[in-house]
Amino acid sequence: MSEKMLKFVEINREMPSKRNSDLRIEDFKEIYKHFVYDKAKEQSSRCSQCGVPFCQIHCPLQNNIPDWLKLVAEDRLQEANELAHSTNNMPEICGSICPQDRLCEGNCVIEKSGHGTVTIGSVEKYIADTAWEKGWIKPIKVLEEINQSVGIVGAGPAGLSCAEELRKSGYKVTIYDRYDRPGGLLIYGIPNFKLEKFTVERRTKLLKESGIKFIQNFEVGKDASLEKLRKKHDAILIATGVYKSREIELPGSDLKNIFPAIEFLTASNRKGLGDKVENFDNGKLNADNKNIIVIGGGDTGMDCVRTAVRQNAKSVKCLYRRDKENMPGSMREVHNAEEEGVEFIWLSNPKKFIGTSYVSSVLVEKMKLGKPDSSGRKKPEPIQNSEFEMKADLVIKALGFDPENLPKLFNSPDLSISKLGTIKIDLKTMETNLDGIFAAGDIVRGASLVVWAIRDGREAAALIQKYLEQKINKKERAA
Ligand SMILES: Cc1cc2nc3c(=O)[nH]c(=O)nc-3n(C[C@H](O)[C@H](O)[C@H](O)COP(=O)(O)OP(=O)(O)OC[C@H]3O[C@@H](n4cnc5c(N)ncnc54)[C@H](O)[C@@H]3O)c2cc1C
Ligand code: SF4
Repeated sequence: MSEKMLKFVEINREMPSKRNSDLRIEDFKEIYKHFVYDKAKEQSSRCSQCGVPFCQIHCPLQNNIPDWLKLVAEDRLQEANELAHSTNNMPEICGSICPQDRLCEGNCVIEKSGHGTVTIGSVEKYIADTAWEKGWIKPIKVLEEINQSVGIVGAGPAGLSCAEELRKSGYKVTIYDRYDRPGGLLIYGIPNFKLEKFTVERRTKLLKESGIKFIQNFEVGKDASLEKLRKKHDAILIATGVYKSREIELPGSDLKNIFPAIEFLTASNRKGLGDKVENFDNGKLNADNKNIIVIGGGDTGMDCVRTAVRQNAKSVKCLYRRDKENMPGSMREVHNAEEEGVEFIWLSNPKKFIGTSYVSSVLVEKMKLGKPDSSGRKKPEPIQNSEFEMKADLVIKALGFDPENLPKLFNSPDLSISKLGTIKIDLKTMETNLDGIFAAGDIVRGASLVVWAIRDGREAAALIQKYLEQKINKKERAA
């Protein structure tokens, strides 16, 4: 283990009595310090109430940030909580994992004037955490249930937010999900050191207590066709996310110990949740005492390298074919990874996986940046005869995600999709080309962010409600 990584282990794990080899994955739940009242108040008081709320404009939920900061500064936390929840179904989750540097905080006027942003995300988390602690967050009480039902496919943030909003309006809601736990990538994708899983579990528990029905281990396409589900409900929302890992076809790709990022992260999250995970326990998906190479410089890549550090890897290296300035991931995450001792091999591309049965090293080629391509980013080009070999016991491919083939998977060949495989919707109604079937979240946008999924889920709820009201009106007119 590198000196930096050792230092990270000692400083951040706050368990100096334990030797590194004694540390287990359960020990790494949270490295971020909890935000305390004084700090929340101090930060909230820093907001200049500038009158041009760029923070709010750049928050996908258009959260009323200046007003809830003011309420916190005035000790009016309960009101701040109501305001925060009026636009966001999961404020504590967004406060923890939004890339604020690219959204609200990156556009704070104080930040722009060089005085450092108000830490908006931490205050948002503080408000909602306090509300949970004080018992201010309660299940929805439906006074008069509407006799119409909505089936939601996918219990990720898009599906959950849509469900909550529809339930508030009185509809019967059933969520179907193919996994054993609800939460989507909140539960099995995002590592638990970034997002503590009990925060997701208490949200889904609240929705169950609000009368929303969850059917887990139910895969649409396998356990029921989309058409069958459509007949059962008055409207359907597809919020299935994107799960097809992008592949890299190289000589040696079929060697053992080369895994897609989502497998590595899911195993780690399941372990953190207390599950028995065979491929973790037998060492296959466990970075302990191994030389790890992660391919890809996006946020998922950063989650993999940082998870590997927490699993006590011998060394962790990240290969990325462009340079640091052109990395797609959040700079904050890159800094965190660097601080924890991850070594970034910029301008490098894997050319071959070497080994007999298991991978033992990666042949890497140096790259240089050429002219910008159609996306405007400089195109990486290989440097002739620049190859070198890097030792690897476990290789993790973090090259992004594409949608699965939903028309085929759902046994619904008529469902219209884009060239990229995302579901096509009417932007004004969020309806697909099939009557009463709506779609939201990553399956429409492509791999995106939790906060956008929440926004889509909320918008879909409003538009589904409009559709259902029109349906009733039509029936009444016909009667
Ligand atoms: C490793 C990783 C880290 C990330 N980190 C962050 C972060 O720090 N901050 C951030 O804002 N965003 C992050 N994201 C992105 C974020 O998680 C997604 O944008 C968001 O979860 C999308 O929400 P969704 O509801 O559309 O889909 P998902 O969260 O993917 O949920 C989809 C659900 O649909 C279910 N499903 C799929 N197919 C079927 C089927 N046929 N039948 C039944 N159910 C089905 C799945 O089981 C899943 O539960 C990260 C993503 C990954 C992969
Ligand atoms: S939801 Fe995300 S972008 Fe919006 S205020 Fe909260 S942390 Fe910032």
